[in-house]
Amino acid sequence: MPTLEAFVKAGASARLESVLPTNSIAAWTSLMTGVNPGKHGVFTFVRPSGTPFQTQVTNSTCIRFPTICETLTSAGLRSCVVDMPPFYPPFEINGVMLGGMGALGPRVFSYPREVATTLMEKIGGYADDVAWMEYQGREPELVDRLVGLTENRFRVAEVIVDEQPFDLLCVVFVAADRLQHPFCRDLLEGGPHYATARKLYVALDEVLGRFLGQIDTTQTDVLIVSDHGFRPISKLVSVNQLLTKAGLMHSKWTERLAGRALHLALRLPESLQGRFFKFLEQARWGSQRRLLPGSAAYSDIADTVNVNLVGRESTGWVPDSEYEQMRDTVAAALTGFRDPATGAAPVKRALKREDYFHGPFASEAPDLVLEFEDAYAYSGEVGSALWGWRWLQGVHSRDGIIACLGPHFRQGAQASAVSILDVAPTVLSLLGVAPPADVDGRIADELLARPVPPERRPAPGPPQPRDEPKAYSEEEEARIKERLRGLGYVE
Ligand SMILES: [Zn+2]
Repeated sequence: MPTLEAFVKAGASARLESVLPTNSIAAWTSLMTGVNPGKHGVFTFVRPSGTPFQTQVTNSTCIRFPTICETLTSAGLRSCVVDMPPFYPPFEINGVMLGGMGALGPRVFSYPREVATTLMEKIGGYADDVAWMEYQGREPELVDRLVGLTENRFRVAEVIVDEQPFDLLCVVFVAADRLQHPFCRDLLEGGPHYATARKLYVALDEVLGRFLGQIDTTQTDVLIVSDHGFRPISKLVSVNQLLTKAGLMHSKWTERLAGRALHLALRLPESLQGRFFKFLEQARWGSQRRLLPGSAAYSDIADTVNVNLVGRESTGWVPDSEYEQMRDTVAAALTGFRDPATGAAPVKRALKREDYFHGPFASEAPDLVLEFEDAYAYSGEVGSALWGWRWLQGVHSRDGIIACLGPHFRQGAQASAVSILDVAPTVLSLLGVAPPADVDGRIADELLARPVPPERRPAPGPPQPRDEPKAYSEEEEARIKERLRGLGYVE
């Protein structure tokens, strides 16, 4: 990627450390607010409903801290945000917002509404996200769709910016994520799909070149940021299986049945495996996954475990007085597990929520957040403690990238690490706006040539009163979950 390489060399760059759990919705919300999930309230793609294995989809009403766009709105500045994953349904700002995840659900995907019509007239619409899980055996088609999605996002930005001026333009390109899940190892090791996958990176680099061709970087600051990095994996760790083995979880989805289903899935022709996994999840979520009495803990959200607590879960089994001890027991059972083939400990850490999250919504965080050793990743399955799927070669890592070029950035500066929470205060400072008072991040001075004093202060507090998060209707919920499964975000 010669254009990206030249950009990084010329500007200021650093490793960008993402949040836990490392999923796009928590990470982008943290990036766009500058606070940890305990303060903005978005932890994962789905959130607990009170009944285990019947989660609700997270949406933009769950964000309970002002985003960069809202702070800019309070300061009288305009922003345009395209395809930001947690921003669906889009909400009112001074500017334009196009919903994230390729307009995930059936609602209007643009704010203001008429932008959707303009896009339809001028470039044929807003391309859909690509459910990579369903493309096993059709690899070239997956890459073509992703190149098309990348091209569409560039053109969307071009159309909107042509019509009106903005102080901040923010475009998310999700394609590399959709490709690295199935091709991560091939890309790193020059594996069988390397040449096919490479096409997307050529396209991304070209799009970056076209952006930079229209921007005068002596006048305008440009930041390239990721919500997370990637790491190659070879085995999936079935957390619910480990809980079942330890006698901490009992479910209707019996080990024998689930084991057979998993075995069958992995023996199917490759082109059917992804669809079969989706089918298994649907059956499981619909009726099979029910906690039976005597269950102390369960995992219905990736990278997390909850205690089955009396008074909080409808199936509650563990009284408040045993909560602390139960978290220790669960953590010990998971971190004590060894891969029989290598002796490695796949679950590196099981963090208690208060050890990582802080703020008014920290009590909504999962009871334990899991971190995995290299080569291992989370699975919600039951039936086999460890398993592998050839079509899942990579998962998110906490190490991403920030690279910046423009009048305010130090040329050729390389800093060691910047937190994803530092992006919002830094971006606001570049626009001369003071960040909200209780922001967690800081201005990344090490990347800047000189500090920019705030000229404008936003109106105090969130621009609009924040209601309680709103759930989707049952129909919308089902439709969106189906989409999220195809993207590998919901088990
Ligand atoms: Zn991903």
